[in-house]
Amino acid sequence: MTDPLQPDWQLATRAIRVGHARTAEGEHCEPIFTTSSFVFSSAAEAAARFAGELPGNIYSRFTNPTVRAFEQRLAALEGGAACVATASGMAALLATCLGLLKSGDHIVSSRSIFGSSTMLFDKYMARFGVETSYVDLTDASAWASAIRPATRLLFLETPSNPLTEMTAIQPLADLAHAHDCLLAVDNCFCTPALQQPLAHGADLVIHSATKYLDGQGRCVGGAVVGDAKLVGEEIFGVIRTAGPSMSPFNAWLFLKGLETLELRMLAHSAAALRLARWLEGQPQVARVHYPGLRSHPQHALVGPGRQQRTGGGIVAFEVTGGRRAAWQVIDACRLCSITANLGDTKTTITHPASTTHGRLSPEARDAAGIGEGLIRVAVGLEAVEDIQADLARGLG
Ligand SMILES: *Cc1c(COP(=O)(O)O)cnc(C)c1O
Repeated sequence: MTDPLQPDWQLATRAIRVGHARTAEGEHCEPIFTTSSFVFSSAAEAAARFAGELPGNIYSRFTNPTVRAFEQRLAALEGGAACVATASGMAALLATCLGLLKSGDHIVSSRSIFGSSTMLFDKYMARFGVETSYVDLTDASAWASAIRPATRLLFLETPSNPLTEMTAIQPLADLAHAHDCLLAVDNCFCTPALQQPLAHGADLVIHSATKYLDGQGRCVGGAVVGDAKLVGEEIFGVIRTAGPSMSPFNAWLFLKGLETLELRMLAHSAAALRLARWLEGQPQVARVHYPGLRSHPQHALVGPGRQQRTGGGIVAFEVTGGRRAAWQVIDACRLCSITANLGDTKTTITHPASTTHGRLSPEARDAAGIGEGLIRVAVGLEAVEDIQADLARGLG
């Protein structure tokens, strides 16, 4: 029997071993429990489980053993007491808002967050009386001055998409706590293999498991990690009631993904660093944004024992010649996939100004630093030489 939470184990071991409670069949690989409901031995046991007096499964919208295995494994990797898996990364953010906020509350968010996250705050949470203010991720005084008496939640991604801006998490956690707020970090770009926000004072970690946790572009899912009260009760309550639960099959794919997470993240990072250095030497490239480069403004946050262990897999670069030149690079690719997803073994390439950030006004895009010449590459695990040759074709 595996102890579900083994704090002594190193990350690689936890990623492979935590969460599987072996059944009487003696299976080695985690089983997929494809069942919508669970059977009780008696009416009295059913009543006790429904009343919460007896632990155990009732219905897979609430809990499912395969989903629980994924939750325990991810909690062990992030260093959290509780984890709730969700149907997508956006469902994780929605459940966090619904579980912890009420009408009249206020959010302070980094401006550089995933587009759908902005949409969730501005279009939907606003409708229910939750207002959001946006600040520059790297401007500490802007965070402080945006806080109001009604502020309940601070929210950020580090590194940001697509410019890979970073911020120190601990000072913002301290700021949040000094004002009775919670700090939530979307840890999608780093995963716990590179960065563990809870260890830097964050209260909640939000994941799109769709990206690196799966790692092979196979399915959509998400998770929230944090303490037993906030996550295990409040946010779990939303999922259990409102229903954006993770499917057991997806949970199983994510379990398999987690087993190679550390290996993959280090390999993505090594390849991205090589590619970023090569791009810095190309005459048509005006600027390269990559946390692992010395030229990155917050490079001091990156390295063994620092907030972020390695630079991660995302590289953004600006070509001279605007949209025409950027599209030329993208359209010349025969290997890199033109798709907005990231965190895959397959390298993906996007033009943020006309896709992920296309709905922003040109002024808002300029303010965010997302120019027409900017290209984002989520570096996969193909040979770096082949990725370089693919990009070189359009740069020529
Ligand atoms: C993709 C993504 C999300 C949303 O996740 P889904 O699984 O697509 O719902 C949230 N945050 C970041 C940083 C992402 O890249």
